[in-house]
Amino acid sequence: MRMEERVRGRGWFTFVCVILFLIIASVTTASMFLFVPKNNYQLKAPGNGIGVESLINNEQGWIDGSTKLTLLAVAISRGREVDTDTYTEQIAILHFTLDDSEALIYLLRDSETGNLAFRDTEGRVVSHNQKFLIYLLDSEQLYPLFCSTSPPPIKVMNREVDAFTYDYRGSSLSGEPLRFNLTEEDIDLPTQRFTLEDTNLRIADIPKAARLRITDESSEEDVFSGRYSDIGSFEPISHVPYLYTFETADANGNIASYHFVVEYHIKPTFSISHDYLLTGGSFVIFIDGVKENDTIDCHLSFDYKPFFIRMDNRAMALVPISHTMKSGEYSLYVSCAGYEETFTFGVSEDSYEVQNLEISGDGLAANTAEANREYANTMYPLFDSKDPYIYWEDAFIQPVSGTITTPYGVYRYTNGSENATRHAGVDIATAEGTAIVAANTGRVLFSGYLELSGNTILIEHGMGLHTLYMHMDSLRVETGDFVEKAQLIGTVGTTGYSTGPHLHYQMMIGDTSINPWYAQDKRAGFFAASD
Ligand SMILES: [Zn+2]
Repeated sequence: MRMEERVRGRGWFTFVCVILFLIIASVTTASMFLFVPKNNYQLKAPGNGIGVESLINNEQGWIDGSTKLTLLAVAISRGREVDTDTYTEQIAILHFTLDDSEALIYLLRDSETGNLAFRDTEGRVVSHNQKFLIYLLDSEQLYPLFCSTSPPPIKVMNREVDAFTYDYRGSSLSGEPLRFNLTEEDIDLPTQRFTLEDTNLRIADIPKAARLRITDESSEEDVFSGRYSDIGSFEPISHVPYLYTFETADANGNIASYHFVVEYHIKPTFSISHDYLLTGGSFVIFIDGVKENDTIDCHLSFDYKPFFIRMDNRAMALVPISHTMKSGEYSLYVSCAGYEETFTFGVSEDSYEVQNLEISGDGLAANTAEANREYANTMYPLFDSKDPYIYWEDAFIQPVSGTITTPYGVYRYTNGSENATRHAGVDIATAEGTAIVAANTGRVLFSGYLELSGNTILIEHGMGLHTLYMHMDSLRVETGDFVEKAQLIGTVGTTGYSTGPHLHYQMMIGDTSINPWYAQDKRAGFFAASD
């Protein structure tokens, strides 16, 4: 037994027996003593000592002699009434003789926390410091002691959490000073666990000057240490079990520690940057409160699969609104960590010019089935590239200035054809050899010559956001290069399927083209166009 009995006087046993006799014999006599049980139990029991384990295993039992019984009675009577709803397991019936008639006290257990409580003859459910109670039940020796002062429980989410270890001063039944020293090894109490759906952890009745340590239970790393009042600096991650340990000391030199586990199951917050867009625009899906291993599922009511990147506890994805989309209402379904949300957003078709184009000579010759196949085989797989970073900085810039000969989204009829093609980029005409710069920082996915698009560069800016540059005279960067915003990447030319010196400049999210001008206008929400 590790419970220390610091005071041992000769003849104390006799002395205590006399006191016990007096307590048991008479209510009026007992009331004169230091210990006046609130409920005034006077209990006698037959039988031999039993531990809490055998009580639990046998489901009923007897508590031995009057001394221990009295201690229990005092413990119970000085206990606090607890919520009966949670004490659902009846693990033992304790038989007592009460005023010459048989009385039963039921030992109950909280199935969730493992805490013990007693239901007395009047139906009250009372509990006491768990370590002390279990100690009494387990004790093979009779300790005619009762610690009149034990660490008060703290309250976590309105549930009482007893001290786990303590070194506390109290007094014996005879009023002798005593010291109780319970360590973690004395009694293996289950650690109370709490699951919260927000970060509003409510802890009450914490002694002043309590020190708090928060440990990630899985990694065993301390994530916070300090005063409880400084807890504001601690931001829990969802689904991580945190062990909270409070260490307290009072003015009398009593020390106690409390611990419990809190797991935050925080519903991720879903949001979208825009719920109304013009075609050619884009918006961002945000999921805040994402845990590292959370799976994300996302579907749109049109053919595009958003790609999410993760930054700390946030996941985000770009959604392009192609110039080919029709006006109307569209929907987005997103789920994460078992939670889901559906958004609806409106799209209005922007107004696009109609253009008739005549191409002849070398330019026309370039638009062959073979040239198209080469372009598709080379570029389409690269359009699927999605780096899980954001390389670009601030607004995009126009890569070269000149005359906008064909804007974005234009309906184009070539050489009198009946079916219009759509212009997915912007044509900027200017003198051959004019410098072309990168519209923003990124990684060069392709730099090379293709029969259809001539000298071509494709840059990944992160999150699957791409810029594409065609028909260049010369190339100044290579595939795999990392380029800075405004860095020279090539010069204006008329290579490939082209009618004259110009840059075909195109912006894409994945393989879907968007209006590149929107990315130059911060007022448009940076990535997005809305009015
Ligand atoms: Zn073009």
